[in-house]
Amino acid sequence: MMNLSEAIRQVYKNVGNIENEGQLASYIPELANVDPESFGVFISTTDSCQFGVGNCDDKFSIQSIVKVLSLALAYKIKGGELWERVGVEPSGTAFNSLVQLESDNGIPRNPFINAGAIVVADVLLSNLANPRDEFLAFVRNISNNASIDYSPKIAKSEKAVGFRNVALCNFIKDLGNIKNNPCDVLDFYYDLCSIELTCKELSELFLFLANNGRKTADGEVILNTSQTKRINALMQTCGFYDESGQFTFKVGLPGKSGVGGGIIAIYPNKYSIAVWSPKLNSKGNSHKGMKFLEEFSTMAQSSIF
Ligand code: GLN
Repeated sequence: MMNLSEAIRQVYKNVGNIENEGQLASYIPELANVDPESFGVFISTTDSCQFGVGNCDDKFSIQSIVKVLSLALAYKIKGGELWERVGVEPSGTAFNSLVQLESDNGIPRNPFINAGAIVVADVLLSNLANPRDEFLAFVRNISNNASIDYSPKIAKSEKAVGFRNVALCNFIKDLGNIKNNPCDVLDFYYDLCSIELTCKELSELFLFLANNGRKTADGEVILNTSQTKRINALMQTCGFYDESGQFTFKVGLPGKSGVGGGIIAIYPNKYSIAVWSPKLNSKGNSHKGMKFLEEFSTMAQSSIF
């Protein structure tokens, strides 16, 4: 098997040469202000190796990648009860779709589509005294990185145009599965999505999911083994919306994307790898990020299947 850093170096070069297809997530105005040519990769392994290339130290908006972390905190607090509020099946629909909610009585198919993440944000609002601060403290502690923060500029930019999320949240409220004021739920949801990280920070933050739910630095248990298995399983089956099957087919690792152009992928017991390239394909997933991970897992023979 090829050395991981050597594979990253070679695939970064190959994918750097393909056409930079796709569109920036300009439906959130602030996300149109990034350099479309940015391209970074960073890997952190459970045995403490790190390697990065390209724009791996530039901050970007992690958007839906945060849904894994908000789910982790809600699952830690509520345990299996959480699945009464949100399902665990792939939706087969776009990340911002409304179509299944009515027939599913307001129970979103999974926590990674917007509808599901909005319900998870509502659960956190009901169970934390200071949700904004406590969520940030949770994330900062996982990665021992006190500089992680929300971006008020990005949250405000999304709020100004978030009509579809307003529709989703109000619809779920009407169906009885949002307990708080929809405006408060959405404000918190936009804050969550606005967090900015570099590829290095993102891969460090997610390493606990490759380490049976424990921090590598001091062994602190963030999630138990069963909870970690289930979060990774959800990333495998639902992490890329209606492209989740393709990601599993081509890459073969649990992962999660965001419309900021980031992707995180996990190899349990080995590593977490973050890729960032802001131009998105028609499913809202990073075009080059998908290509990179497909070629990387193939060249390095590094897939869980
Ligand atoms: N904040 C974005 C939204 O709600 C997140 C979507 C995503 O990254 N897929 O539309």
